[in-house]
Amino acid sequence: MATPELPLVLVVEDEPAQREVLAYNLEAEGFRVARAENGEEALMLVEEDAPDLIVLDWMLPNVSGIEVCRRLKTRADTRGVPIIMLSARSEEVDRVRGLETGADDYVVKPYSIVELMARVRAQLRRVRPSSVGETLEFGDIRLDAESHRVFRGAATLKLGPTEFRLLATFMEKPGRVWSREQLLDRVWGRDIYVDTRTVDVHIGRLRKALCPNGETDPVRTVRGAGYALG
Ligand code: CA
Repeated sequence: MATPELPLVLVVEDEPAQREVLAYNLEAEGFRVARAENGEEALMLVEEDAPDLIVLDWMLPNVSGIEVCRRLKTRADTRGVPIIMLSARSEEVDRVRGLETGADDYVVKPYSIVELMARVRAQLRRVRPSSVGETLEFGDIRLDAESHRVFRGAATLKLGPTEFRLLATFMEKPGRVWSREQLLDRVWGRDIYVDTRTVDVHIGRLRKALCPNGETDPVRTVRGAGYALG
């Protein structure tokens, strides 16, 4: 099973060969990949499992890439998902139109796969910094996603893999309140059945690991809602 904390990239491309090249390269970068061959399928897949990023072809049968982009960018729950639009059109006016629909980036075909991957990483660095090996900081806590190490001040903390993923999730969006269900999706993955009480157990372990010498507990319990960092 793919590790749940790996970013999920949705590839929407009607040309099978191009779709596979994209999927192959994204998987080689260590991402999970979902594939859609048209706009309707893309919108359906977004409902099933929210992607962290979408690579979206402009020219698709029926519902065009522009329309898919427009719909996702007008919805509060999907607005934040970065969209990289692919297009054979290179006219400046089309580029502007592409960005006006809310696409976060725009790549003209034929593109260099190396450049596209760099743009994918740049977008993910913005929304899922720990997934691309960034170092995250919150107060005196530092999480190095590259070496999988966590520090508080000068001390190295001992965290289990689940607690590490929990902390990375929290540190990517300090202050955000996560429900237990959202944490289950993000940290354990949607495919496994885990009781929500398991979340509480691991939050308890995380709190203990973060405060080895009686430091302030940075994890906040929000009654009836879930947990937040800070
Ligand atoms: Ca196409």
